[in-house]
Amino acid sequence: MDKPKPDTIVVNAGRDPAANHGVVNPPVYHASTILFPTVEALHAAQKQRNPTKSRYGRYGTPTTFALEEAVCALEGGHHSIVVGSGVAAIVVALMAYVKSGDHVLMVDTVYGPSRRLCDTVLARFGVSTTYYDPGIGGGIATLIRDNTKVIFLESPGSLTFEMQDVPAIVAVAKARKITTVLDNTWATPLFFRPLSLGVDVSLLSATKYISGHSDLMMGILTANEAAYPALRRAADDFGAASGPDDCYMALRGLRTLSVRLQRHQETGLTLARWLKQRPEVARVLHPALPDDPGYPIWKRDYTGASGLFAIELKPVGEASVAAMLDGLEFYGMGYSWGGFESLALPSDPSAIRTATAWKDRGPLIRIHAGLEDPADLIADLEKGFARLRKNSS
Ligand SMILES: *Cc1c(COP(=O)(O)O)cnc(C)c1O
Repeated sequence: MDKPKPDTIVVNAGRDPAANHGVVNPPVYHASTILFPTVEALHAAQKQRNPTKSRYGRYGTPTTFALEEAVCALEGGHHSIVVGSGVAAIVVALMAYVKSGDHVLMVDTVYGPSRRLCDTVLARFGVSTTYYDPGIGGGIATLIRDNTKVIFLESPGSLTFEMQDVPAIVAVAKARKITTVLDNTWATPLFFRPLSLGVDVSLLSATKYISGHSDLMMGILTANEAAYPALRRAADDFGAASGPDDCYMALRGLRTLSVRLQRHQETGLTLARWLKQRPEVARVLHPALPDDPGYPIWKRDYTGASGLFAIELKPVGEASVAAMLDGLEFYGMGYSWGGFESLALPSDPSAIRTATAWKDRGPLIRIHAGLEDPADLIADLEKGFARLRKNSS
């Protein structure tokens, strides 16, 4: 049989109705203690460490394994590991491959808390970090030291959406035997499959599009065969478990990921194109717009764009931005994204960039295009711009 296409995998992976009384979805197993009938079976389970057989609730239950199997099939990896949040996934991915005295190359446009982890926790344990320009590509070779163990990528970048040349960086990393980790939260494995380009570990904040309903926290890591054992050990050592109810909800969200993402993509592009024409907007930061600097890479490596992007306003005071955002009817203001609802968030990357400069730029607003009718979303923004103009004159 031909290998099923991604949309078919989304629907079918990690399900076995025949093993569950014909029930379509896997059951929710609540578990701490797992019992073994004999000493021999107990010892066998300890030794075997089969990632799809539990020996204790912290290592997962069949509900966890169903979700891991489904995401792994999409990412095209060896195994996936579910942990309690996206940040927990980042902690596990970094701690799995570094020790005191090692060096990490971290993209300058990385998610803020990833950066804080490097500057505080890793620094405290004697691991140094160099931040690199997301546009560096193969030039990353010049930053590699003898003790460089991990190159961390996130594409597109948080807040400012710069694309990275993943194959060029992976080629350098492979030649130097350095582990590559990529935060794939924005694209999800439906629109980008890092492991197929040679990345060792792909991680997701499943809090975002996988769950898709703004009601749970979760992270999922997927590794190739070589990178998996150390990753599994780190996840176990950090006790980074997720509860079975959340695993069930994430699987439920996953089943509709494809149709939701298509709509997020369409509405995101509709809003982005409309915003480009607005006199209040200096720039739209969206890698799927043909004149975006990231477009050639996006077009080459990605099969779609999700609904998260940003606009840079022409210079205007904070009060004017607040007047625009405070009165929006259909855009919530808050952290996270990837749920069914639209969001608009003021952001300022200037304080968290060191390898690249974000200075003398207009205010940035990050927009998450939800599943509402795009016409309502545009009308809401139009009224927002009217408030902005009224407050800046
Ligand atoms: C939200 C986010 C995370 C962190 O995920 P949580 O589930 O909130 O811990 C990591 N990376 C990116 C790109 C994110 O947007």
